[in-house]
Amino acid sequence: MPAAQKVCVIGAGSSGIAACQVLGARGIAFDCLEKGSEVGGNWRYENDNELSSAYRSLHINTSRGLMAYRTYPMPDDYPDYPNHFQIARYFDDYVDHFGLREKIRFRAEVLSVVPVDGEWEVTVQARDGDRESRRYRAVLVATPDRGAKWLPRKRTHVYRSEKNIPRPTRRQLVRTARTFLHQPYVWAGRSGFAFDCSGLTGTVYQVHGITIPRDSGPQAQDPRARRVPASSLRAGDLLFYSHSSDADDIFHVAMYVGHGRMIEAYDHLTPVRVTPVRLGDSYWGAVRYLHR
Ligand SMILES: Cc1cc2nc3c(=O)[nH]c(=O)nc-3n(C[C@H](O)[C@H](O)[C@H](O)COP(=O)(O)OP(=O)(O)OC[C@H]3O[C@@H](n4cnc5c(N)ncnc54)[C@H](O)[C@@H]3O)c2cc1C
Repeated sequence: MPAAQKVCVIGAGSSGIAACQVLGARGIAFDCLEKGSEVGGNWRYENDNELSSAYRSLHINTSRGLMAYRTYPMPDDYPDYPNHFQIARYFDDYVDHFGLREKIRFRAEVLSVVPVDGEWEVTVQARDGDRESRRYRAVLVATPDRGAKWLPRKRTHVYRSEKNIPRPTRRQLVRTARTFLHQPYVWAGRSGFAFDCSGLTGTVYQVHGITIPRDSGPQAQDPRARRVPASSLRAGDLLFYSHSSDADDIFHVAMYVGHGRMIEAYDHLTPVRVTPVRLGDSYWGAVRYLHR
């Protein structure tokens, strides 16, 4: 079947494979393009897509009953809070059970999705460097509340690559961060509907085409980030809090918004808030990603 009659699913993480299963069950033809060599996305420890935040001791913090797909329960012999190896195996089993694996193209990174003549031109680069563009009738975007969403054209900008996205001003970063005010705190959240601390700061930068590490410690230690003293903070700078002077003990990050205040996703009792900067004992320091 020509690609133009198919749907393109980008990514074979937990969302992508669920999308494939539902499309398959409804008889809708699709291609799934996956950057890495395996399914599972974030849950694949040491994933060769280099995007996974899974660490050696990671277990789920939502119970297996809550996290499992309704169409495919987790095995009875799994503990209530399985580790990442068990979760990755569960996703492998899910994909094989529904016969999805052969429909997933692995080591295929989507470089751009551009609307052309009522279709979507998807450009993919294989691991060996080969590049090709295909037209699809639809590209599936998963949203956290499960609905399909439409963006007004005037608020949509299409860039051929991340490099082409204009560098944001400090004011734009703050404006973006403020759009997330009052969203709930969820550990590991970075959906736009709920955040943890580094999910908030990472998302704000990513919206403007700057991908910074997922977690607070690595955000502080990224080679692109320069340390800045508290006396010369500028909007957009990231402030870090640690159990010691060691960056590996960082447990919290917030973003400076000017006038002695910062925006943060603080804890599960506190929706995203703007609050005075705290420079007490646990303040570790600040870094700057925007150098002009
Ligand atoms: C430390 C940590 C702990 C967590 N704990 C829990 C928990 O206990 N319970 C829970 O429910 N959730 C938890 N989460 C959240 C959960 O991991 C995510 O919600 C989930 O992984 C999202 O699935 P996804 O498929 O949307 O994204 P991902 O898992 O990130 O998968 C995205 C996939 O898309 C692929 N991809 C990305 N870009 C491209 C591209 N350009 N071209 C082709 N492919 C691409 C990637 O290679 C990847 O395979 C946790 C997250 C973290 C970081």
